[in-house]
Amino acid sequence: MSGEEKELSIVIPVFNERESLEELFQELKGVLNALGRSYEIIFVDDGSTDGSTEMLKGLAQEDRHTRAVLLRRNFGQSAAMSAGFDLAQGRIFITLDADLQNDPGDIPKLLAKMDEGYDVASGWRKQRRDPLFTRRIPSFFANMLISKITSVHLHDYGCTLKAYRREVLKDVRLYGEMHRFLPALASWLGVKVTEVEVNHRPRRFGESKYGLGRTHRVILDLINLKFLLSYSTRPIRIFGGIGMVSLLGGIVSGASVVWMKLSGGKDMTGNPLLLLTVLFILIGIQFITMGLLGEILIRTYHESQGKPIYVVKELVEQKPPGVS
Ligand code: UDP
Ligand code: MG
Repeated sequence: MSGEEKELSIVIPVFNERESLEELFQELKGVLNALGRSYEIIFVDDGSTDGSTEMLKGLAQEDRHTRAVLLRRNFGQSAAMSAGFDLAQGRIFITLDADLQNDPGDIPKLLAKMDEGYDVASGWRKQRRDPLFTRRIPSFFANMLISKITSVHLHDYGCTLKAYRREVLKDVRLYGEMHRFLPALASWLGVKVTEVEVNHRPRRFGESKYGLGRTHRVILDLINLKFLLSYSTRPIRIFGGIGMVSLLGGIVSGASVVWMKLSGGKDMTGNPLLLLTVLFILIGIQFITMGLLGEILIRTYHESQGKPIYVVKELVEQKPPGVS
């Protein structure tokens, strides 16, 4: 397959999903062929050990619209999706799970939203078919938190079935398990995000790769995300802010030590508040210096990589006279 322009790139991370692949592929082909748009399917094998790898190789060799990227080991869903994005050439990227839980039949609905002018259309599994206690309840709280913390308000961040305009993903780098927060990361670019109700099916083959064990990781990722979205270009504001509050605490506590001595004759060295004063002042200085270090780091980050701190949508100008 050459570098010709495609309309759609379907990116599918695969980790030990052998039994689902053939059926998924047939369903997808049916939907995509009926759409009548040019497309490519990119399977990313994330270090499977159950024979998925060989199946994907086979599919890619048989079908000229299908490619398979085989990763050397299991890098995680975010990394697998990134590998797919790096290779994809379509104008619109669509991601979905390989386990048949997402319904390829929903792809036209997502595309309809994209045609309306949205930059991201995100699936909402309104009737989610996953275990209640280990998945749906934790997700409920996670969704609430993510919605509070980010400026993109969706019901279901965890749904892999999403469509993105290529430009949106080009500048987003995925670390850790950040694929869940792609719409929020993309919001930094000022894109229009919408939600589409999609079908969700119970898992019939293989096992879920996630469970309750990832709760703390999601929370840490969220803190990270909040920081990246709000303060990554001005770290001194958050670190300096905390430092200033701590210094203020130190001054108040120090002043009360002196006041106690003067008014009540309370021995200064025997006053535990003196310790608190020292602690507050030290922490305050530490935080402010951390903020300054942060400022140096972001300069290195943006300037060494030529990364702008803004995103241009379009440049409008008149052509100089003489140029047609
Ligand atoms: N996946 C992956 N690498 C991993 C874990 C998962 O590529 O390390 C893929 C997996 O094959 C599936 C998708 O990511 O296509 C979502 O995983 P899963 O269905 O286990 O998640 P759940 O639907 O239970 O949230
Ligand atoms: Mg699944």
